[in-house]
This record gives sequence, structure tokens and C-alpha cells, in this order.
Amino acid sequence: MLVSGCLAGWGCGVDGGDYGFGARFRELLALPTLRVLPFCPEQHALGTPRTMPDIHGGDGFDVIAGRAKVLDEHGRDLTEKMVDGARAMLTFAQQARAELAILTDMSAACGSQVISDGCRLVTERRWQRGVGVATALLLEAGIPVAAQRDFRTLALLRARLEPGFTPPDNLRDHHEHSWVLEHLPGGHPRS
Ligand code: SF4
Repeated sequence: MLVSGCLAGWGCGVDGGDYGFGARFRELLALPTLRVLPFCPEQHALGTPRTMPDIHGGDGFDVIAGRAKVLDEHGRDLTEKMVDGARAMLTFAQQARAELAILTDMSAACGSQVISDGCRLVTERRWQRGVGVATALLLEAGIPVAAQRDFRTLALLRARLEPGFTPPDNLRDHHEHSWVLEHLPGGHPRS
């Protein structure tokens, strides 16, 4: 399973941290029935620390198709680098024969449900339903992607991997969370 580097505890976030994710997913990622393949497309292409990339004018599919750009908070165009990082992540996943991916939502690279609509470092941040650049490439190549906030999917996955684990029946995926339904009415980004 391909995972965002930060979910595996890598210090690959824009500020050199893991956004607090490493500790949260330790149990799932330590299952002996799972082969974990961490990768960070932004670190690969832009290094760490780095400025904040966000998609302007669409989502990751639009970036790949040349209809949208990735800019940082200074207006610097990071589109080419972000596509390079996404391609490197896909190559890594294919060479390792990854069957699925769990990636960090809200990221311009790894987002799979919700991403920023333009720069997030503004007084009034905007969001949109959509995917990041790396997620778009993975989906186009047939690798399914779930978000770290897809709690129902993660629990069902764990039930497949851990005999005796019973998933609670009240969990929801990110697009079903009340915040998403309230702030971003409409369907699932890939429905
Ligand atoms: S690009 Fe992906 S793996 Fe890297 S820090 Fe952002 S969310 Fe984590």
C-alpha cells in the first residue's frame, strides 16, 4: 500500500514535520499483513522545507491536462515540479506493485476528496471537492486512492488485514463528514 510519507511519520511536510500524522497511523501501518510504501511527491520534486503549493483554476486532473496551475504563496509557478513529483510517485508505486494508496487529504499533491481552491495562506481560505496532482495520476493509472480521513474505508481495510478486527458501523468517509457536506455541497469528486 502506497502511503503519503507524512502519514508514515516522515518529516516531509512543508515545514519539515509530519503534520502530527505519524503517531496516528502507527497501528494500521504496523500490521504484519501490510507492506507499506511511503513516498512524498513534493519532497521528491521541491525538497523540504519548501513553500506552500496550491492548485489554482481546477484540481489535479486539470493540472495534468494543462488547464490549471500550481502556485506557491508568493505566486511562483510550481506546476512543472509538482507534475514531476507526481510522476515519480506513480513510478515508485508501479515498480513496487502497490495495489492501493492512502494519501493525505487537502494536499495539492496527495488530496483525494477536498483540496484548497487557490492559496491556503490567505485570510479567508477556500476549498473545493477535487484531487491533488499525484492522486490524479495514480487514479488515471488505475490505483485506487483513499484519504486518511476516510474512516469507514480505513476500518474496512483493517478488517481485511487483521483477523478478529470488527469495524465500528458508525464511521464515515471524508466526503460524508458534516463539515464537507456543509461547506462543499454536491457529490463525491469522482462520482
Ligand atoms: S506531498 Fe503528500 S506526502 Fe508530502 S507532505 Fe504533502 S501530503 Fe505529505
